[in-house]
Amino acid sequence: MSNAITHEFQAETKKLLDIVINSLYTERDVFIRELISNAADALEKYRHESLTKDQEDLFDSHVPLEISIDLDEEKKELTITDTGIGMSGDELIADLGTIAHSGSDSFLAELAEAARKDVSLIGQFGVGFYSAFMAGAKVRVQSRSWDGSEGHEWVSDGTGSFAISECPGLHRGTKIIISLKEGCEDYAKKWKVESIIKQYSSFVPFPIKLEGETVNTVQALWTRNKAEIKDEEYLEFYKFIANAVDEPTYQLHFSTDAPLAINSLLFVPKENLEIMGFGRVSPGVNLYCQRILIDQHSESILPEWLRFLKGVVDSEDLPLNISRQALQDNALVAKIRRVITKKFLKFLAEEAKKDEAAYLKFWDTFGIYLKEGVASDFEYRAELGKLVRFESSKSKESTPIGLDEYLLRMSPDQENIYYINGPSREALEAGPYVEMFKKKDIEILYTTEPIDDFVLSHLAEYEGKKFVSADRADLSLDDNSDAQEKEKEEQGQALDEKRSEKLINWLKKTLNDKVADVSKSSRLVDSPAMIVNPDSFMTSSMERVMAAGRMEKGMAGEISKKNLEINTGNSLICRLAELVDSDESFAAEVALQIYDNAMIQAGLTVDPLEMVERNYRILHKAVD
Ligand code: ADP
Ligand code: MG
Repeated sequence: MSNAITHEFQAETKKLLDIVINSLYTERDVFIRELISNAADALEKYRHESLTKDQEDLFDSHVPLEISIDLDEEKKELTITDTGIGMSGDELIADLGTIAHSGSDSFLAELAEAARKDVSLIGQFGVGFYSAFMAGAKVRVQSRSWDGSEGHEWVSDGTGSFAISECPGLHRGTKIIISLKEGCEDYAKKWKVESIIKQYSSFVPFPIKLEGETVNTVQALWTRNKAEIKDEEYLEFYKFIANAVDEPTYQLHFSTDAPLAINSLLFVPKENLEIMGFGRVSPGVNLYCQRILIDQHSESILPEWLRFLKGVVDSEDLPLNISRQALQDNALVAKIRRVITKKFLKFLAEEAKKDEAAYLKFWDTFGIYLKEGVASDFEYRAELGKLVRFESSKSKESTPIGLDEYLLRMSPDQENIYYINGPSREALEAGPYVEMFKKKDIEILYTTEPIDDFVLSHLAEYEGKKFVSADRADLSLDDNSDAQEKEKEEQGQALDEKRSEKLINWLKKTLNDKVADVSKSSRLVDSPAMIVNPDSFMTSSMERVMAAGRMEKGMAGEISKKNLEINTGNSLICRLAELVDSDESFAAEVALQIYDNAMIQAGLTVDPLEMVERNYRILHKAVD
């Protein structure tokens, strides 16, 4: 061009271009996202002007607002045209010759560091307009401002300088013509460009026409007014964003303006792929800034334990050019995460209030994630406490209850919320731990999953009531059955003080290497004995899980010694006391068997070989 004037790029721009051209080649696709994002910004700016200015002051006001992408495979060219606000000659020099990023120095340092360490990382950095040089050997920008001043062309090969010349006869807006580098010819192919647009720019609010055909047909529902959105639209959107064929269990459309501008649309899917054995799922919520994707399957925008959610979070407060790494440490992202997490948990609590049966279905499928949340995230304990569900001695079978329901039923002077872990409801109800609770009509929660006791120990308390495991040694249910006990003793149905003490001492000696202590129980009704935990921070179930974990790592899987409580009103125990005098060695066998049985009822392991052999010896004696 005859009247072209050459300009040097600003020093930082040169550095950036150097990195872009020499290191950014693994995730080149993002250059299309960047250029479409600029085009959409330019169109948005023009729309804004057109709303506030007189039509006569606007150049080319009849031209429709859209983005066109044209491809020329032969010439290896990709052209992106928008009818936005455009740039004057001076603006071309200023906008495309310098770096506008705030804190561009640290940005550059980070970028250079990523380029040095791991090139695949670098695609995560938005480098704005200059990303055109990731795929372009030469880039031409023809632009005409909305004020109608003469158009200009900007040309560069990205190495040190660019040239500006007048370019008459342009329409309003900007046309970017990219002559593709060797190895980048795919960007002149329709299937390639279309798939990139679908991935990154599906929700751009202006038509994107690829060779004349509009490719972005799904609306950014989350930016629209809830009242105007039809159910079918939500469903269609869910299927698109979650790549799903089913219907969502729940959906939450949530927008706020203050203190942060957030638009989000979250879905709970129908199935839990993790419990179906598909392995750990990756997060399903994408992060957008003004409808442009900035982080797909974002690991930063929600806590890990909400990875089952699908949907989008959009905040215009977020910078478009932010790396994944930077997102993780970004204070704003952390704030958004907190707001959305609290909102979602509150939403679940409301849904449970509206329809508990539907909530229980959700709980059955996804409750495991909320439990993970309790065990891993201190911050949301109060909210999560409202959402957990367990069966209990007063719940119907397979109809777990919430803690609020438990509190509602309990007597005002009850201080704790009781629970006990076991393999199933049946096993627990047949075992020794719930006997006294049933007798005294105190409700007790049944925790039947290995993780449950960790969950409750992390929750620690709910509405001021502490969680107490029924296998704790120091548990007292404020027993007032002394009178009954005396009566039983007098009728010879229970051991008196002296004989109890004698038996206990003998048991301590006999079971010396197995138990920490033996004592008389005040909470057994029918069973002869039970195992209890001297350590109040650990339940038998927790110890079992941790021992299994140690064994997996090849370490000793032993558990600490427990206490044995005996029921001195149980006939087997009474007979045992007599047997100690008449046949001590046989009494010892019986004592060991009682201990083993109690261990099994506590869900703890015994030596099966030893136990079976002993059991046969006892049976022999019985049949003789
Ligand atoms: P950012 O978009 O973050 O500002 P870019 O490097 O992508 O950074 O773009 C730099 C500047 O160039 C923009 O801020 C804008 O002023 C101008 N610009 C880029 N593309 C266009 C376009 N298609 N129309 C009008 N102005 C544009
Ligand atoms: Mg940009």
